[in-house]
Amino acid sequence: MIKFSIIIFFIVCTLQSNGQIRFWSDFEGGNGMLVKKDSIHNSVEIETELKPDNTINAWLYFAISGYPKNTMLTIKLTFENYFYYVPSDPCISYDNQHWEKPEFIFNNLNSYRNYREFKIIPEKDTIYFASFYPYTYSKLMSYVSSKYENHNLDTATLSFSEENRTIPYFKIKNITESDSDKWLIWIIGRQHAFEVAGSYFIEGIVDFFSSDDSLANNFRSKAIVYVVPMMDVDNVYEGASGKNQFPIDFNRDYNDTSYWKATRSLRKKMLETTHRNHLTMAIDVHSPYPGNSEGSDYYHSHYFNIYGDKHYKASRVRNFMAIFHNMERYKTFEVLDTVVNDGRTCFDQFIDNQDCRRFGTMCNDFILFSTTYEQAFCKHPNGESWTDEKVRMSGYNYAKSIAVYLYNTSK
Ligand SMILES: [Zn+2]
Repeated sequence: MIKFSIIIFFIVCTLQSNGQIRFWSDFEGGNGMLVKKDSIHNSVEIETELKPDNTINAWLYFAISGYPKNTMLTIKLTFENYFYYVPSDPCISYDNQHWEKPEFIFNNLNSYRNYREFKIIPEKDTIYFASFYPYTYSKLMSYVSSKYENHNLDTATLSFSEENRTIPYFKIKNITESDSDKWLIWIIGRQHAFEVAGSYFIEGIVDFFSSDDSLANNFRSKAIVYVVPMMDVDNVYEGASGKNQFPIDFNRDYNDTSYWKATRSLRKKMLETTHRNHLTMAIDVHSPYPGNSEGSDYYHSHYFNIYGDKHYKASRVRNFMAIFHNMERYKTFEVLDTVVNDGRTCFDQFIDNQDCRRFGTMCNDFILFSTTYEQAFCKHPNGESWTDEKVRMSGYNYAKSIAVYLYNTSK
């Protein structure tokens, strides 16, 4: 009888743990494919999914349930290409709403191979996993709605995407004053759909410029700021990377004729506005590698692609960065001033990195500078993990720095 009970017990246990793990990613912004599941060792192996017309799979956002409780769950991520995209500091959620960066029990960060393993004892029945705090198209639209009552900005539609989604933009200004003689600033983001950290950064920018902070109030009587928070809305919706997509990357779509409706409309709108006001700054917000675990390496929190008279404009970017980095207490200048093997500093290398002609037609002699901001996914240059709130705060400080910088240069 005892023998029989033990057998029954084993059968029940096996039934409970075998084949019960469920995996899915077919929700908005989701990405991931189940390669295999091992119910004996309670582990899953996941790969990113290459979405239609994409060439790079760089984003993960999926859900798992059906694992036995109070047991270590192993999530192994494999990537066919480029280890930079294997997340090194991912997020989890138990409700797909509230996200956190847990201390994973084992995380082979130093493995420069194309996989990483994360082990965790989930607190609840279902666990969501993502390369970074997800920022979906719906999240953008609810952020836009949250600004309807704010009288320091207007929201409008830039255009509709190829899949007919609204591409919103903000116009931030003092509504009681006319537009004439104001500084004109354009800021755009999510040209690369998977670069989610940039969206929190842009929220911070919009939050500051539309706030009742006295610096923001004064700034709005001198400037008009246009912000397009999400250019490639369709790929964001699909959970695609968008980078190097067919037929052309959004970021490279600024040649004679633009392919995408969003880039065509952006250029048209930028040109219209530059007829009334001098374009003073144009900033394109990115965030390159979810798998880059280094703290203050070249790709974190830097600026490149500076147009026109590059050395003259570079010194302006440098002055602007000094204000921002001081506000953020970064030590990035130490990295930027490091002399690399060809005798130039890292900063000089960025200045020379002019690989495309974003905003090219608008970048005349009047512009102070046009630049790219690369918001990190993983580690702050000071070594801490980025959270959504920290990135938002960084964007807030960035906008504040723009205000301070323009006041200093206009004296
Ligand atoms: Zn990018």
